[in-house]
Amino acid sequence: MEHKEEAVISPKTGVVDGNDLLGLWQAALGEIEIQVSHPNFVTWFKNSALIEKNENGAIVALPNAFAKEWIENKYSKIVLGALRALEENIKKVEFTVHSSKTIVVTRAAAHPSQARETQQSFPEFRVDTETNLNPRYTFGSFVVGKSNELAYAAASAVVEDIGKRYNPLFIYGGVGLGKTHLMQSVGNEIRNRYQNRVRVKYVSSEKFTNDVISAIRNKNTESMKEKYRLVDVLIIDDIQFVIGKAATEEEFFHTFNALYEHDKQIIISSDKPPKFMPNLEERLRSRFEGGMIIDIGYPDYELRFAILKAKMQERAVALADEVIGHIATKIQRNFRELEGVLNRIIFFQKTRGMEITLRVAEEIMSEIMQEPVKDINPNVVIKAVAEVFGISPAELISHSRKKEVVEPRQIAMYLLREMLHLSYPNIGDRMGKRDHTTAIYAYEKVLLEVSKNQQLNQRIITIKELINKE
Ligand code: ADP
Ligand code: MG
Repeated sequence: MEHKEEAVISPKTGVVDGNDLLGLWQAALGEIEIQVSHPNFVTWFKNSALIEKNENGAIVALPNAFAKEWIENKYSKIVLGALRALEENIKKVEFTVHSSKTIVVTRAAAHPSQARETQQSFPEFRVDTETNLNPRYTFGSFVVGKSNELAYAAASAVVEDIGKRYNPLFIYGGVGLGKTHLMQSVGNEIRNRYQNRVRVKYVSSEKFTNDVISAIRNKNTESMKEKYRLVDVLIIDDIQFVIGKAATEEEFFHTFNALYEHDKQIIISSDKPPKFMPNLEERLRSRFEGGMIIDIGYPDYELRFAILKAKMQERAVALADEVIGHIATKIQRNFRELEGVLNRIIFFQKTRGMEITLRVAEEIMSEIMQEPVKDINPNVVIKAVAEVFGISPAELISHSRKKEVVEPRQIAMYLLREMLHLSYPNIGDRMGKRDHTTAIYAYEKVLLEVSKNQQLNQRIITIKELINKE
């Protein structure tokens, strides 16, 4: 339970040469969470564990064969990348199914030794299957500052007056600024207060879209209605991915109306306000605008500092204010990144068992920052790919099926995913209003190719250089 062996750390990478599988996996999960969408993260990585690490690589155990297959196919590269970023001698990762339910990951447990004793799963992973709510997201853990105080106030008001005052409540803002956290807090607060008397459902746009598609495919639209129209509070996240998809938007409109007419509460999030959603149908736009529209802005220094403090408290770790200040100064964009950096530093602190001075923090961060976290405009990627292949950006996103265009298009989709971590629906959307499955297919195809085809690999490196020079 105690640290028996002193962990040995290579100075450059912070590599741990101990046996702290739990800590390593926690830190890796922190990385992975940055790279995959939140619902996917929760769905696929819950109850995962790093069970072995030897000279041949690492073995990650998953709760069932389905999760194993899925992660192998879709996320093995991300998992390997995350582990390797922490321990560079991990060259390979394998997946296995763990039979007992005893292996449960404690992500962000209060303290590593405590984690080993209790082996309880962090609430993050206990997403309620009926409401889809994650109990981790509460008003209590939401730190309020200038950029989010109005959104916070509106969200709290909804709890007091469900379906009446602010309906729909429409929250918009950039990635990682707390929309999901805030909306789920409303759901959790309502559940705590009213238990089963108020039916709450949270759904991501991806899930909603999939449900519509499978309802159509199975000719079972009734199930859709039962699922979404018999609730008192519907929370739908990232609505921008529903907009412009005819069948899904239509179904959403009917769901919306059915609920709205019965004074049921609807809470929506989006990356932009309705007036900047060009493909939003007029009838939906006016419905949205009839409610309460509110934005979450970029956090100022004070809020970033306060959030870091709060997250540290959650994890029962301490860092000098000087260090926190440095992180808050450097990482300005969003909270998810802030958390990622904090995880890394905590991991380092824990495994090295030494004080994190400003110098050490700077070193760890400069290493992380070398990874492409800078803001790259998707259009720059599209332009660079077009340039390298000698076609126009318009042609690239066109519907042409010529081989000279199809391949570069797939490469562009691959890069949008790999470099910018855009979601598949977003990529499909940008690349000529294609379906997200097309983007998934393209990404996976190129991913596979790259490992085998040296010429393609070189091309991609060239394109990346071009992009990074912009
Ligand atoms: P969004 O949905 O806007 O992309 P999230 O709600 O997923 O952002 O937030 C990203 C991460 O930052 C989550 O882990 C969330 O808990 C955390 N976070 C965001 N805003 C706050 C806040 N005000 N207080 C505490 N944590 C926050
Ligand atoms: Mg979100």
